[in-house]
Amino acid sequence: MELMARPAGRAALPFLPFFAEGKVIKGFGRGSRSLGIPTANFNQNVVQSIPPAMGSGVYYGLANIDGGPVSKMVMSVGWNPHFNNQVKTMETHILRQFDADFYGSWMRVAVLGFIRTMESYPSLDELISAIHRDIAVAEKELEEPEVQELYRHPFFSAALPGMSPIQPHTDTSLRPLSNHIQNGPAISPSSSHLAHDVQKGHQ
Ligand code: ADP
Ligand code: MG
Repeated sequence: MELMARPAGRAALPFLPFFAEGKVIKGFGRGSRSLGIPTANFNQNVVQSIPPAMGSGVYYGLANIDGGPVSKMVMSVGWNPHFNNQVKTMETHILRQFDADFYGSWMRVAVLGFIRTMESYPSLDELISAIHRDIAVAEKELEEPEVQELYRHPFFSAALPGMSPIQPHTDTSLRPLSNHIQNGPAISPSSSHLAHDVQKGHQ
């Protein structure tokens, strides 16, 4: 409980902080990248695991990729129109510049606070302005003293799936297994392509 992020002036939500991790998959090409706001998507197994009470809206928190540096993020939780709005999506925009896309990488997120509900904006410009305000809120809230410890939370530095320190080549029963791992290939800390190559080589 000492790690509970509860920025001053914001109602604490019982389901926060919420941690999620999984492989970054291709999203639905809603053009967020062309707005300068790329959002990394999780697969449905991860999205299904979010608490029902965590409704659609914009949240802020922390994220890292393949065990790398922990960065601030803003996340939208919404309903996917491609599936009759029956299926939730979680889209994470990490407040850090990346040199390249990281599809297939392992993303970890800690959702710490709620910013606003989803609204439809009269124009794209107003939507973009709203997102920039969200980013400003996230930047500020994530500087709060009670959040600082979470940047070093062991969740972000835990061994990546398929990358346990002693990786048996012959006895597959010793490999760490979880739902997420069963749903995606092993990811290396530096490059998912490398992990795929190594995997092929051993199987
Ligand atoms: P998609 O519809 O496939 O999700 P986006 O236009 O939303 O496409 O772009 C998301 C992708 O952009 C991510 O999966 C990731 O590989 C890449 N990306 C690069 N920089 C970032 C960032 N700062 N935050 C989130 N994703 C990023
Ligand atoms: Mg996206």
